[in-house]
Amino acid sequence: MDGIKQYISRSAIETHAIGREIGRCLPKNSILCLSGDLGAGKTTFVKGLAAEITKCSPNDVTSPTFNYLNIYDGETPIYHFDLYRLQTAEEFLHMGFDDFFTLGGICCIEWSERIEKLLPEKVFRIAFSHDGDDRRKIIVIG
Ligand code: ADP
Ligand code: MG
Repeated sequence: MDGIKQYISRSAIETHAIGREIGRCLPKNSILCLSGDLGAGKTTFVKGLAAEITKCSPNDVTSPTFNYLNIYDGETPIYHFDLYRLQTAEEFLHMGFDDFFTLGGICCIEWSERIEKLLPEKVFRIAFSHDGDDRRKIIVIG
């Protein structure tokens, strides 16, 4: 995957489908930095992506808001982070979370702004924004 892609989604199901499409083109050890307001669709996107890659159900994918990390096992595992509650980037290191960058899975990181200085140079940036009611704009850079 290279360059910039823009999508308009009109429902959560469409956002699942976009997550699935992008999931299919990712190499192992990809890091996806998901940005956007609460409710913009970051977790909804990961539901589709994780379902595509690990063959789980999108309903099995829940937000790791309180525990920072949920893991979905598969040939290529998904490491789904939500760092909204993280206070400092150092906390992330202390928990050993940076090890997950190179374990052969795919890291999906909501609120990656919290660890900007720890991110490797090559990451995919995916920005979500509200575009009225159930419409969401999704911009993928990578
Ligand atoms: P975030 O993780 O960015 O805080 P979530 O994915 O948890 O956001 O929540 C998005 C909410 O908006 C869900 O309740 C979802 O059903 C709803 N929604 C409505 N339209 C869309 C859309 N087009 N894409 C994604 N989510 C949508
Ligand atoms: Mg979320």
